[in-house]
Amino acid sequence: MAIDPTHRGIYSAMDMDIREGGEIEAFYAGHQEPIADPIDWINAPPLPQNVLLTSVDKIINWSRRSSVWPVTFGLACCAIEMMCTAASRFDLARFGMEIFRASPRQADLMIVAGTLTWKMAPWLRRIYDQMPEPKWVLAMGACGTSGGIFKGSYSVLPGFNKVVPIDVYVPGCPPRPEALIKAVTDIHDKIEKMHPTRKAGE
Ligand code: SF4
Repeated sequence: MAIDPTHRGIYSAMDMDIREGGEIEAFYAGHQEPIADPIDWINAPPLPQNVLLTSVDKIINWSRRSSVWPVTFGLACCAIEMMCTAASRFDLARFGMEIFRASPRQADLMIVAGTLTWKMAPWLRRIYDQMPEPKWVLAMGACGTSGGIFKGSYSVLPGFNKVVPIDVYVPGCPPRPEALIKAVTDIHDKIEKMHPTRKAGE
């Protein structure tokens, strides 16, 4: 880069050194006394005030609902809204859900977003079967509820519940991201009502 002689003051290495040296000397002069060590922890409240009692069920449910990882299952137009929900504006990360998994073995929520054809249905069921328990399924859009605008078609399922159990249905064609977020919080409510330490029937 050519140096502009009329701006020599800006580009002069000597001037920059002098200014930087002045700043360092001022900093040095202002930091001659040691800073007191933080001792707040010594004055912390006694142990009973720091103990929180709860049940194992509540802790497990809290952990599960705070880290629901969805498996990616976008099938059609609804998937665009699902992706939008995960992006910065609606920010699913607020719910501990930013990690959409490409493997069913690392996921506990299936968001089925789109139109499900009979040709695709066996593979949806297979992915569902590969997810570990406990797991939840969210049917996104009118197609998931009833087949939507394709209801009666020879090739489209009239509702995802023909092949997998659905925990929450999200109406709309397509549903807005806010509707999907509401459905996610409904899933959280379901999780909080579970009793993971009890066997079925107890
Ligand atoms: S519900 Fe509407 S937006 Fe969603 S997949 Fe079906 S046709 Fe597309």
